[in-house]
Amino acid sequence: MKTYKIACIPGDGIGKEVVPAGQEVLQALAVASSRFTFDFESFGWGGDWYRAHGEMMPKNGLDALRNKDAILFGSAGDPDIPDHITLWGLRLKICQGFDQYANVRPTRILPGIESPLKRCTRDDLNWVIVRENSEGEYSGVGGRAHQGHPIEVATDVCMMTRVGVERIMRFAFRLAQSRPRKLLTVVTKSNAQRHAMVMWDEIALQISKEFPDVTWDKILVDACTDRMVNRPASLDTLVATNLHADVLSDLAAALAGSLGIAPTGNIDPERRYPSMFEPIHGSAFDIMGKGLANPIGTFWSCVMLLEHVGETEAAQTLMAAIERVTANPALHTGDLGGRATTVQVTQAVCAAVSR
Ligand code: NAD
Ligand code: MN
Repeated sequence: MKTYKIACIPGDGIGKEVVPAGQEVLQALAVASSRFTFDFESFGWGGDWYRAHGEMMPKNGLDALRNKDAILFGSAGDPDIPDHITLWGLRLKICQGFDQYANVRPTRILPGIESPLKRCTRDDLNWVIVRENSEGEYSGVGGRAHQGHPIEVATDVCMMTRVGVERIMRFAFRLAQSRPRKLLTVVTKSNAQRHAMVMWDEIALQISKEFPDVTWDKILVDACTDRMVNRPASLDTLVATNLHADVLSDLAAALAGSLGIAPTGNIDPERRYPSMFEPIHGSAFDIMGKGLANPIGTFWSCVMLLEHVGETEAAQTLMAAIERVTANPALHTGDLGGRATTVQVTQAVCAAVSR
């Protein structure tokens, strides 16, 4: 029997509620399948760790994760610690440390869930956003000087490399090619940003020649928001920079019903390191500790985790279970206008995979 070693990092806020829920669902799936098991190891890194140790995770923390098959992550973000410390100290440290350069974010309208878009059916919105996850606006290059003085300066340099852009474009074209519509939209801003984004466009054109069967087009990021709202069916796979895709994927999640549903995988396509799966939402300070968090985004992330390790059948079983549960409005959490709790939704999905 195959055993998968999974590192669990709940982190902060509702991450501490949804990651254990994800473990429960994976465990139920393993029991039901009786073909594989999970060896979970949890790490208490995050805001509490920071208060005790002055850092979000230990210096050699990556070594504890290195030999895992995958990582299930919650959220980094604590009401009492600046966001740039929590994010850079934990999530980005893992994403960058393990060169998880492709951030894959599927969005669909699940059964029973309504889109806020009036003219949008379930078939109209079925997207995957590929986010460049290792450089660009979040490269960490920049600095501050003369702090507190009138001449204070601060820069965040958007750094793009040929290697970085080529590999994310190739990943996105390949993903688009694997989907039925074979359709890719390259999101850009090369009208205003005349260096890095122009190279981005040039490399998109170059890589497109390797994929003659993929239809592709290019759109400015601001216009893309309009297209997502007014012509959702014209999109399928999208590729965008770190910052652009961050923003567009929250919009995508909202259009599909809620931020609480959307999953993501931080993928190292070369499989040199473990990849990390997480809901796209954050710590949700307004509802944390109340048992009200929607765990569906984490469960869907577990589907992506299972696909990544090659458990295709279990992934399909879990996705079908999730869809059976969302189809029942009595099992909707508050973000979907319902009254169900995290525990109720988790139990329902566990029951559905065991059937
Ligand atoms: P957020 O995603 O935490 O919350 C935005 C809104 O969506 C809130 O009203 C929240 O209640 C709701 N929401 C989000 N997930 C939900 C769920 N599963 N169920 C029900 N409702 C849900 O975004 P924010 O408020 O901008 O950020 C809060 C903190 O989280 C910040 O510290 C931020 O830096 C951090 N953050 C971390 C990550 C990450 O680690 N991947 C991602 C985003 C934000
Ligand atoms: Mn985000």
